[in-house]
Amino acid sequence: KICVVGSLNMDLVVTVDRFPEPGETITGREFATYPGGKGGNQAVALGRLGADVLMIGKLGNDLFGEQYLNNLKENGVILDGVKVEEGVSSGIAVIEVDSTGENHIVIVPGANGKVDRAFIEENWHLMEERDIFLFQLEIPIDTVLYAVKKLKKAGKIIILDPAPARILPDDIFLNIDYITPNETEIETLTGIRIKDVDDLKEAGHWLVKKGVKNVIAKAGKKGAYLATSDDFVHVPGFTVEAVDTTAAGDSFNAGFAFALAQGKGIIESIQFANAVGAISTTAKGAQSAMPFLRQVETFIGQ
Ligand code: ADP
Repeated sequence: KICVVGSLNMDLVVTVDRFPEPGETITGREFATYPGGKGGNQAVALGRLGADVLMIGKLGNDLFGEQYLNNLKENGVILDGVKVEEGVSSGIAVIEVDSTGENHIVIVPGANGKVDRAFIEENWHLMEERDIFLFQLEIPIDTVLYAVKKLKKAGKIIILDPAPARILPDDIFLNIDYITPNETEIETLTGIRIKDVDDLKEAGHWLVKKGVKNVIAKAGKKGAYLATSDDFVHVPGFTVEAVDTTAAGDSFNAGFAFALAQGKGIIESIQFANAVGAISTTAKGAQSAMPFLRQVETFIGQ
């Protein structure tokens, strides 16, 4: 049984020919809303794989919140730990994309900022029944630290996606079974510039020394690298025609947790994660591009 503790955001995307100057009003081309947020993305990817997945997070009492609840439900995510918070908006990202694909993004955390220690306590009875936990860094860091420590004491398995990139307090690392940074994130965490695989190995072992049991460095089309106290191995990715890599990292984490929950070993789980990540890049969009289990099985089998 899996649990995702994290953010739920509605992405409001406007396409424009060019960005407006300060004080200028322009007419955009199109507008659409897409459910996102790293927490929600990972939960939806898990739901699509057919996992038994509980989401812990907050939405605002607005239309986006309502829309997001439906979206989670449609994708098979258990909603008992999702609260509609009064007096605050849902988390949103306002995204402008111009004709060259360049973007301007403003994020308002809204209800995600209200996921606090008290909310973890409120939902502890639900969390206690779960085995594998996924965290990211779009809710307050104090909550992540608090929850991770408490869960580790209870003997749970913790997967941390350290995204968006930031420096973390040392005492979090001892509680992490699997950390899954991409290249930027591992650079930020360790202060080591990644120019080649040797740097990645050094950075991986830096995190292991801090107390993380397994470092899984996501490496785009190259797949991933696993660093443990006595090993450093490459798990090659799959070759696909990538058209949009949005949420590839979230898909990877969901695939990894799903495979672990099925009792697969770590290397096999990373292979499965690489497949889910790769498939998610072959279609446009974040959640809409996430594969169902059959698709992954067909893809791996081919
Ligand atoms: P993030 O999305 O967090 O920046 P990556 O870009 O490394 O992380 O992508 C996460 C995972 O998705 C990779 O480890 C890999 O398994 C898969 N992936 C991403 N891009 C590609 C690609 N172009 N081809 C094949 N697999 C990919």
